[in-house]
Amino acid sequence: MPELPEVELVKRELSTVQGLTIERVEVSEKVTLGHNAGKLTVVKEPVDVFMKNTENMKIISLGRRGKYLYFILQNGDRVKYLIGHLGMSGAFFHLDSLDDIVEYNFRKHWQVIFRLSDGSMLVYADIRRFGELRTIDRLSDFLPVVRMAPEYDDEAAAEHFVGAVRHPANAGKAIKAVIMDSTVVTGAGNIYACESLYDAGILPTRKAGNVSVKRLRDLFQAIVDVFELSLSQGGSTISDYRSSTGGSGEMQNRFKVYQRKICPEGHDITTKVIAGRNTFYCTKCQR
Ligand SMILES: [Zn+2]
Repeated sequence: MPELPEVELVKRELSTVQGLTIERVEVSEKVTLGHNAGKLTVVKEPVDVFMKNTENMKIISLGRRGKYLYFILQNGDRVKYLIGHLGMSGAFFHLDSLDDIVEYNFRKHWQVIFRLSDGSMLVYADIRRFGELRTIDRLSDFLPVVRMAPEYDDEAAAEHFVGAVRHPANAGKAIKAVIMDSTVVTGAGNIYACESLYDAGILPTRKAGNVSVKRLRDLFQAIVDVFELSLSQGGSTISDYRSSTGGSGEMQNRFKVYQRKICPEGHDITTKVIAGRNTFYCTKCQR
């Protein structure tokens, strides 16, 4: 699943759509069949509303909040946000033709095509269809964003993190489960939670209420450092994640515990399911 660095990289790569107008929107047969069956497959509102809110709108700019990517659309006084979440395996592509999508599975599983005013297209492809696209009037209308912690590079983020982890409701939960909660810190999924806990020397199974404030500050800094390392490496390329241009990042080569057998200090890695996700850690380096 793409985490914050991967979504940020997609946002940067898609800056080429800025200034273009969405002339026409097409949805896949899977989306249509899903909607006809009463399931809001990928497009989380009626397709006619989605089209009305995006067609003939100019893409003014792009933004990211946590793992959500958004496009600000405008036509005269009318402004809409097209907001998307890549789910498990979503990807955006900006290209001239579907044939330009290198990976067969993404080419085959396109879900939404936005035809743009210069003849190019913005394609949302999603093999497993857990991703989400919707339109909203403003970010403050969208509850997952309203509840979200400050961005990791916001100066208030570290204090928010310490306070949120130490909230009594989290005291008995595993620290790893708590840091994957977007109301605590934005954008840390399974991979970066495992890696940052290793860097901070904290066992993922430790109860959040038993981690000192000093260690929580170290952990927050470890999360920031792991995000920034990943951004510098072009993100992680594992299983379903592909950048919008079909390129691949190198962060997976820098993992210290995630999907590893031996930690950098030469100890055996332990794996355990925490909060439904396979967790990798070292019982010697982490306590
Ligand atoms: Zn170790």
